[in-house]
Amino acid sequence: MDDHFDIAILGAGPAGLMAGIEAYHPDNKVVVLEKMRKPALKLRISGKGRCNITNEESFDSFLNRFGKKGRFLKFAFSNFFNHDLLDYLHDLNVPTKLERGGRYFPQSDRATDIVDAFVEKLGQLKIPIVTQAHVTKLTKDSAGRFVIDMIHSGKPKSVTADQVCITTGGLSYPATGSTGEGYFMAQEFGHTVTDTTPSLVPVLTAGDTARKVQGVSLRNVTVSVWSENKKVTEMFGEMMFMRKGITGPIILTLSELLVSMLDQGKKVDIQIDLKPALDHKKLDQRLLREISQRSKQSFKNMLKTLLPRKMIALFLEILEIDPEKELHQVTGEERKRLRMLLKEFPMQVIGHDSYDHAIVTSGGVSLKEIDPLSMQSRLTENLYFAGEVMDVNGETGGYNLTSSWSTAHLAGRTMRDTFMKRNQ
Ligand SMILES: Cc1cc2nc3c(=O)[nH]c(=O)nc-3n(C[C@H](O)[C@H](O)[C@H](O)COP(=O)(O)OP(=O)(O)OC[C@H]3O[C@@H](n4cnc5c(N)ncnc54)[C@H](O)[C@@H]3O)c2cc1C
Repeated sequence: MDDHFDIAILGAGPAGLMAGIEAYHPDNKVVVLEKMRKPALKLRISGKGRCNITNEESFDSFLNRFGKKGRFLKFAFSNFFNHDLLDYLHDLNVPTKLERGGRYFPQSDRATDIVDAFVEKLGQLKIPIVTQAHVTKLTKDSAGRFVIDMIHSGKPKSVTADQVCITTGGLSYPATGSTGEGYFMAQEFGHTVTDTTPSLVPVLTAGDTARKVQGVSLRNVTVSVWSENKKVTEMFGEMMFMRKGITGPIILTLSELLVSMLDQGKKVDIQIDLKPALDHKKLDQRLLREISQRSKQSFKNMLKTLLPRKMIALFLEILEIDPEKELHQVTGEERKRLRMLLKEFPMQVIGHDSYDHAIVTSGGVSLKEIDPLSMQSRLTENLYFAGEVMDVNGETGGYNLTSSWSTAHLAGRTMRDTFMKRNQ
């Protein structure tokens, strides 16, 4: 490895690989340093190994998927948005396809194809990705150059660079290499790191209800979140029961809110509406119709028409109604209890999974200290950030990768342009 680079990228995740390519100029020396044995381990397992690249959503709704922090991404996205990313991947020979929910995937369904394409491109540009290069410290020397201390293949090594981009990711799925070290590097230069919590994370629920229906997936349900008898929000979509709690797209999306409510010491309840298309009155009419049309059938049989099979035993246990009871014997009060359970199936959220199972990290390097027009630090010249190391995270659906790639595209281009200006 050389001892000096014009541009060094710290971390070879999706952001680091993109920043490396975009920082390229025929006359500059760029390096991407990665502590693991292979680059982009997290990208390889993203989208269950298929990689949900981006989303076919309009610009404004896309930004909304990041909450208030979406504003920070406006410039990066206006330079490099979903279709630019798809064109970019096509140019790298990764054809893509559109699926339900506006989500794009590689046509091959292989996330590794994306990693291979980025790595190949960097190879063509003769930009080294140095693996097993664990950056341990980032400082500046008296000449104003960055000094990057690392352990490379087990041995200490230092290199210098004129410009540095930190793309070390957040804290989630630490086994992939994202262990939050970029936060300390940023703090070294006076940056604030906002409180971090796991986000897009399964939540744990009280009792053994979840375990009893473990593996059951519910589509087209509405989950509402309650605190102190007040409804906080609700969301429609798909969810799943796990051994100790619940997960699935709506739960993951709600998880940031649920985690923050728990952190504030609030009691957090949720209700699952298994029949959101029917209000209470219409559902009651449907139950009455079932009862009158099948009056000789058992209560258990009627449940088969209303619920996934694996939930029937749980409903019978909660309702305490004899499963063999004939429908004409079902009382008005029992019918009401069934209706309430279908519309307001209760669960209490008591915790959340750890970073080991969180898709992203909420929190990170404060956006106030990063210029959204260049991704350059407002505190230290020639220091840049891109990707999840920053305090920006979105919902599931391809938003987070797009954010990593767009911010890295901008950071890479700015570093390249800075290099060109200096060497005119
Ligand atoms: C299971 C899972 C599935 C996901 N699926 C999707 C999906 O389908 N669509 C989507 O949009 N998002 C998805 N995400 C989120 C997405 O993968 C991340 O937001 C994205 O990878 C962040 O990119 P990044 O480059 O900023 O950071 P990372 O991908 O975390 O990469 C950071 C890199 O920096 C390296 N590094 C860290 N510290 C050092 C150091 N000190 N020295 C050298 N190198 C270092 C790490 O080893 C790592 O390779 C998923 C996440 C997970 C965990």
